[in-house]
Amino acid sequence: MNITITLHREKCIGCAYCSQVASQYFEMSPIDGKSILIGSVEKKGFHTLRCDDPEAYTVCQEAKKNCPVKLIRVDRRNLKNE
Ligand code: SF4
Repeated sequence: MNITITLHREKCIGCAYCSQVASQYFEMSPIDGKSILIGSVEKKGFHTLRCDDPEAYTVCQEAKKNCPVKLIRVDRRNLKNE
């Protein structure tokens, strides 16, 4: 399974909900107070992390649900079906 998590970081309001429900993946920056998607790569304001851990999907879905401004996206692909 291929999991892709995306954070549109520049619009983050710093509520910290994502880092509370998915602390393995999100942490709050001490510099600007916005969320950091740990290990992600930035491109044009979107921070993307790819992994193959099925638990990442479940945990990051919780973060997505809790984000009040809907900045988190979580997609998965089952590579066996390709
Ligand atoms: S839940 Fe959304 S708004 Fe809140 S810190 Fe995380 S990304 Fe930012």
